[in-house]
Amino acid sequence: MTDAAPKAQPDASTTGIAAELRKAVVGGLTRPRAYREQQLDALRRMLVQHVSAWESALRDDLGKSAIEAHLSEIGFTIAEARHARRSLRRWMAATPVPVPVALQPASARIVPEPLGATLVIAPWNYPLQLALGPVIGAIAAGNAVVIKPSELAPATSRLLATLVPQYLDPRSVRVVEGGVPETTALLEQRWDLIFYTGNGRVARIVAAAAAKHLTPTVLELGGKSPVYVHRSADIPAAARRIAWSKWLNAGQTCVAPDHIRVDREVEAELVEELRRATAEQLGDARTSPDYARIISAAHAERLQGMLADGTVVTGGEVDAEARYVAPTILTDVDESGAAMQEEIFGPILPVLPVDGVDGFLETMRGADKPLALYVFARDADVVRRVERETSSGAVGVNVALAQYGARTIPFGGVGESGSGAYHGRHSFEAFSHRKPVFSKPTAVDTLRMVYPPFTPWRERI
Ligand code: NAD
Repeated sequence: MTDAAPKAQPDASTTGIAAELRKAVVGGLTRPRAYREQQLDALRRMLVQHVSAWESALRDDLGKSAIEAHLSEIGFTIAEARHARRSLRRWMAATPVPVPVALQPASARIVPEPLGATLVIAPWNYPLQLALGPVIGAIAAGNAVVIKPSELAPATSRLLATLVPQYLDPRSVRVVEGGVPETTALLEQRWDLIFYTGNGRVARIVAAAAAKHLTPTVLELGGKSPVYVHRSADIPAAARRIAWSKWLNAGQTCVAPDHIRVDREVEAELVEELRRATAEQLGDARTSPDYARIISAAHAERLQGMLADGTVVTGGEVDAEARYVAPTILTDVDESGAAMQEEIFGPILPVLPVDGVDGFLETMRGADKPLALYVFARDADVVRRVERETSSGAVGVNVALAQYGARTIPFGGVGESGSGAYHGRHSFEAFSHRKPVFSKPTAVDTLRMVYPPFTPWRERI
């Protein structure tokens, strides 16, 4: 990827795709609930009937074990599609809202309506879930959608391009494969919503392209999600939970803990417990069937460069060709090094001491707002202070990552970590316009009071 995206060579198959798909929405094809339900059922069947093909694509792209693939991608997306299907009638229903006395008699309701032709640009780290998750919202809300999978996860991208046309109606759902030139060509078109998941640099390119057409965007980005471990925490439990959430998908998870700030007096205990939890969960990670690989040799090399930013307590092995980076804990970390200046997005976990909650809060002042912030403490005052005195996409208390599984929670960032949110009903809302319909009977014309001439009012004032 380069900063200056090459001028796109529009491909005949993608030129005008937005305008073509918009017709499906404007013409009413995608609007009936029955159509949306049928498409959601088809999407679910596409996953259920090809589970082993999806597993194998995710193994090829990221070395994910079948169980991890199921938990975090295939099963997760099936459940999301099923939930949308079952909830659709409720989500589509108009919501009555009260009207102020001064405007009565009148009634008002909010009617969700589709936005139109939408574009979903997906990243490589959960290449199935992060492509189809937003698509479920798009379909449920009655939109047409183009899916642009990540070229860095080619097996999953190929499978999406093969199976989507077999299951979903090509008049309203398409897959366009490719990298920068293809995405640039798509971005030149007028969309009614662009849903982008990935990094902040490309998000700026997406937002600038969207601005040309006044297209709204949902930007699901990342950042350095910190963990604060207070001395009151249950240290062994904290270590188990942090280790699990960091090593899942070899740290290539947008809401994974990026680094830990820990009260100085419990740092040694936490590091020891992290080492123990890592050994318990993965044993020899190199041979563990439950440990994923890095997306590319180049990314493995990038991570290798960060190992020099601290003292390796455990891990540290890198085999870039095999895309393997061991789960690695770093102490004595240089804050000016890449490990603390960039989002790590891999299995390297720096541990840095702080002096109490004030010390932690100090590190957050003026920092970019992260996608998630985790606090491990049994002292309720500490938790409250962290919650009130920081800003992040979400806060996890004595837990990391698991909030992602609660579809009642809107998932999204703030500031540098993104804007807009989705999951469950929030996905439906992200892809809908909440249209107010206000109606006032004409039998008694109470508005007559505000028609000019304003003479009676003038006399009163
Ligand atoms: P990536 O490189 O796959 O890029 C994402 C998408 O952007 C791809 O489809 C790619 O083709 C497209 N793209 C890349 N360069 C482009 C350009 N110049 N113009 C137009 N499109 C372009 O993935 P990534 O960005 O490396 O993903 C990792 C980042 O995503 C991390 O920062 C991570 O935290 C974040 N992330 C966020 C979430 C979330 O839900 N908030 C989820 C996963 C990842």
